[in-house]
Amino acid sequence: MKESIQILQACEDVQESGLIFGTWGNLSVLLENGNILITPSGIPYDELREEDLVICDMNGNVVSGKQEPSSELKMHVEIYKARKDVKAIVHTHSLYASVASSALNMVPLLVEDAAMVLGGNIEVTSYEAPGTQELALEVVKHLGQKNAVIIANHGQVGVGPTLDDAILASVMCEKSSQLYIKALEITDSPRVLSDEDVKKLSNVYVSHYRRLRDFKE
Ligand SMILES: [Zn+2]
Repeated sequence: MKESIQILQACEDVQESGLIFGTWGNLSVLLENGNILITPSGIPYDELREEDLVICDMNGNVVSGKQEPSSELKMHVEIYKARKDVKAIVHTHSLYASVASSALNMVPLLVEDAAMVLGGNIEVTSYEAPGTQELALEVVKHLGQKNAVIIANHGQVGVGPTLDDAILASVMCEKSSQLYIKALEITDSPRVLSDEDVKKLSNVYVSHYRRLRDFKE
């Protein structure tokens, strides 16, 4: 299945991007038949094989696969239910997003590339236990129509219409967290992009979508 190959490639990509620590984190894609292809629980990405991936339905039942699906399956299900434009989800415990997840209520956007990809400031959820329906609903609420959210005392989620887009959103979430935390070391009031400017930048990105993925000034 082509989506299996894409997920295995994406697992390599997120590892190379430095977003993953240990086995924590999970990826999924929405299949054309409405089921979810998701990484299993507890297997390191570099040991992952195609037969380890799990297919689940929108009620969270396993349709096929020998392994247990990721313990955050409920979160993936609720995001796909809430956002019809989202076809891929990447959840990681990346370093600076994790710092933000325990120290901030919001990560405002400081730079244009993040504004283009994420479409709005990154909200931090309230704390809920991992793997629960409560956490899934908190994530949906604070993700809204944007492409990344930070989970309190836990990590982050990036979403998009493809796995590449979801990885890019996760990378921009991590970069934005790092930039804001670094900026706060220099000044109490970093110059943040206005909501209006973020919206304009995001609209430009979406309307010129793939051509602008490798946007160079
Ligand atoms: Zn997690």
